[in-house]
Amino acid sequence: MKRKTFLIRSFSTLAGFFALPTTGLLAHNPRGDQKNKPFIISTWSHGLDANIAAWEVLIQNGRALDAVEKGVRVTELDPDVTSVGVGSNPDRDGNITLDASIMDEHGNCGAVAFLQHIKNPISVARQVMEKTPHVMLAGEGALQFALANGFKKEDLHTDSSRQRWEDWKKSKNNEPIDMHNHDTISMLAIDNNGDISGACTTGGLAFKHHGRVGDSPIIGAGLYVDNEIGGAGGTGVGEVIMKTLGTYLIVELMRNGLSPQAACKEAVMRAVKKIPDAKDLPVYYIAVNKQGEFGAYGTNREFEYAVYTENKGNTLYRAESVY
Ligand code: ASP
Repeated sequence: MKRKTFLIRSFSTLAGFFALPTTGLLAHNPRGDQKNKPFIISTWSHGLDANIAAWEVLIQNGRALDAVEKGVRVTELDPDVTSVGVGSNPDRDGNITLDASIMDEHGNCGAVAFLQHIKNPISVARQVMEKTPHVMLAGEGALQFALANGFKKEDLHTDSSRQRWEDWKKSKNNEPIDMHNHDTISMLAIDNNGDISGACTTGGLAFKHHGRVGDSPIIGAGLYVDNEIGGAGGTGVGEVIMKTLGTYLIVELMRNGLSPQAACKEAVMRAVKKIPDAKDLPVYYIAVNKQGEFGAYGTNREFEYAVYTENKGNTLYRAESVY
């Protein structure tokens, strides 16, 4: 199915958002009569295609957990998305290594880190959640678990990902990792029951050290859901997000009365205040609360996110930012 709508809207240009509090305790409700209806928010423009797949689950009265898994699988399988799943940017040694996490409305969670050769790490993360007493499996153990549970071992490289590595080796072999080369998909959904789930999956930073794990599989860093309160997802430099446990912080700020927008802003400002250089790095969050109010914020103007609701369709927004 093709994209239904493709619009970039800035919060500040939407009439309904002029009164948006960026700090303080008041929550706003941009969804109005959409409260208690299905809702999806995801990171970046590739979220639009992922939202369509997730929406199909929600409108058939499906569970938010199934929606987020189905949604982000689309991104994982898209060879043109160079930061998630198949065809991701490799590490310094040319290996594609993937991180993913998933969290449901009961507080159950599962994650895989440093997983190679499996096209849909999010589905392995879900099986870790549902079939083991653990939260996270990593590396060779995660691969063996996946193979034992019916996943196939495959080469995740595309011609393009191989070429990008060859080009990087020639031009940048001795230079630091490119902290600006990223784009995880994080997705949060609310189903007809009002239950919230989230998923987060990534190839991580391009040309990272072999073995590097980012924020995406760390519960409370790249993803957090509390069904009483809401959920949050992150993208950007995982090292900053891990040092500040951004998504856990956002959910706790919402618990204390902040709107999703104000909570995302506070989490970014916390990182900027506490972490040297964070202001020059990409750090971005999305969030939704139990009432279906949503927000997003980033260190810079680059961040776009996709929201699917019944009355506005599938829409791409540009987030507010520090700079
Ligand atoms: N957060 C991811 C990581 O650090 C990168 C991204 O957002 O693409 O692994």
